[in-house]
Amino acid sequence: MSLFITGTDTDVGKTFITASLLKAYLDLGKDAVAIKPVQSGCENSDALDTKVYKSVNPNNNFSPLYALNLATSPHLAAKADGVEIELEKCVNYCNEFLSNHKEVLVEGAGGLFVPLNDNQTMIDLIKRLDLPTVLVASNKLGAINHTILSLKTLKNYGIKTPLLVLNLSDEKSEISRSNIEYLRLNFKGEIVVINSGESIDSASKKLLNFVKNFKPNTQKIDLEFDKNHLFHPYTSSISPLKSYGVKSANGSYIEVEGKTLLDGMCSWWCAYGGYNIPSINSSIIKQINSLSHIMFGGFTHAPAINLGKKLLEILPKGMDKIFYCDSGSVSVEVALKMAIQYQQNKDPNKNKILTILGGYHGDTFGAMGVCDPTTGMHSMFGGILSKQIFAPKPKCKFGEIFDEKTLKPYEEIISKNSDKIAAIIVEPLVQGAGGMWFYHENYLKFLRKKCDEIGALLIFDEVATGFGRLGEYFASSVAGVTPDIMCIGKALTAGYMSFAATICTKDVADTICQNKRVFMHGPTFMANPLACSVALASIEYLQSINFKNRVKDIEKELKFELEKCKKLPEVVDVRVFGAIGVVEIDSEVNVEKIQEFFVENGVWIRPFGKNIYTMPQFNVTKDELKKLCDAIYESIKTRSYK
Ligand SMILES: *Cc1c(COP(=O)(O)O)cnc(C)c1O
Repeated sequence: MSLFITGTDTDVGKTFITASLLKAYLDLGKDAVAIKPVQSGCENSDALDTKVYKSVNPNNNFSPLYALNLATSPHLAAKADGVEIELEKCVNYCNEFLSNHKEVLVEGAGGLFVPLNDNQTMIDLIKRLDLPTVLVASNKLGAINHTILSLKTLKNYGIKTPLLVLNLSDEKSEISRSNIEYLRLNFKGEIVVINSGESIDSASKKLLNFVKNFKPNTQKIDLEFDKNHLFHPYTSSISPLKSYGVKSANGSYIEVEGKTLLDGMCSWWCAYGGYNIPSINSSIIKQINSLSHIMFGGFTHAPAINLGKKLLEILPKGMDKIFYCDSGSVSVEVALKMAIQYQQNKDPNKNKILTILGGYHGDTFGAMGVCDPTTGMHSMFGGILSKQIFAPKPKCKFGEIFDEKTLKPYEEIISKNSDKIAAIIVEPLVQGAGGMWFYHENYLKFLRKKCDEIGALLIFDEVATGFGRLGEYFASSVAGVTPDIMCIGKALTAGYMSFAATICTKDVADTICQNKRVFMHGPTFMANPLACSVALASIEYLQSINFKNRVKDIEKELKFELEKCKKLPEVVDVRVFGAIGVVEIDSEVNVEKIQEFFVENGVWIRPFGKNIYTMPQFNVTKDELKKLCDAIYESIKTRSYK
């Protein structure tokens, strides 16, 4: 069993304990090695920790990946040596040993927040290696505080700490004895006490028990239970599509059992910044410790207010009143209800919704009613769905020359129904789950004009397009059109949790509330403080990564890398918009088969219908983008979608 060895501080005897653990493993006849990826103070070669390991096992003779000269914090010692410590290199260095030896002891440098470089600390390395961790503390005055701080931090980062070593203990000292007693009461794992002056031999004997008995929790994900009892989206419960067990996800990478996958989907538009973002993680932890939830009827709180201020800062001008709700579908329900209630105070005959074909707005009944009737399966729910009005799917693509004639059918259908239309709802510029179609902004300009003429409201469902995917905060800004009501969701929380909002103008809100009426919706989890905090941290994160330029670069790269797909005979269309790349082929994909192909090739891409597409996270590198695009190309070329 491999372990990471860290300390509450520097000079607590980590190297001594690592060497003692190594000895214990060797005494049990195991193939163990000890390594130290980063060490400072190497100008004094006697100080080399690796020499201590070597004294236990002469074959254990690996020099640190970063052997830095000055005896100071690694980031400073690295600067003095003119190098930068790269986390990825440390991870690769350790993984090399981890794949070649059954037991690897990885010793950190200093404590958890010792900087490796300007952005990353030792705990980032521990987190990435995902090893059970041994915490070494020096048993003196202050040990309780240092130890508990470290243990709490490890726990918050999801790192298991099965062993605490109280090193340099002194049986005669009252402090030393009471530390042990207190920590025994407050730590659930095993505690080993090593006295000051003890030899490696004697320490290793005390550690033997732990080494012998410790069984890491390697419980497999119960795929059988999943298959028998859990529904997955749009799949048969009798013969479900295969589900892969995910252990964790970091940045662009998803850890499934036995494999690391490069993510090309952002979990359906949500995780635009990749997975496991430290600032967002800490926003939840911070909030959970003060208020997880409180009813929004009669109460309000800072997370809801602060998020509201932030949203109004980035939303198109005129958006003014925010309704927080649970999910994208619910935000659409809320928008439709707003439109109907608005018209009840204005022009009650207007009670129909107009939309365009090829749309997707969610899976609840109101939302389904405005989804594309074919892909949205209206026939299945025909009796229960309200009949809405459908205009054609916009013909002219975004970025191409606009053909005025294509507006004619919209003109006709709108004037024919002008007394009935309460609102027009569309996904602006990008139709997502209804077919990944990108259309010209002039349709939106036209719909805006028509709505104003006939007294209907314009609703933009920006659940998919919001928060940077097209290179601006919202598609409305790209198109230069402002709606009366807007739905946001998905990337609102960077993929952390389900949360959404419907935002309307002051006029819409005030009109709804005329004649002593109120807006009739109030979800239990409205403005959930955890979700609000996460959303605020997410928007701050988005603002910190220069997303506009990044998305522009991604767009350029996607265009370049997907170009080659055009040459394949089965490819009907290749289109790129912002950080979305779509390859449309001439037949429906076999999802299970093509999924297997992608997983075998180390990427996560999940096509639907005839579209094989990727929506990478904004921090994706050029090489990663190439890998995603190459995989799409190969999947078609090798006919792995059949
Ligand atoms: C995903 C999506 C929805 C539904 O959101 P859920 O959170 O899945 O309910 C609504 N509208 C659009 C445009 C979407 O992409």
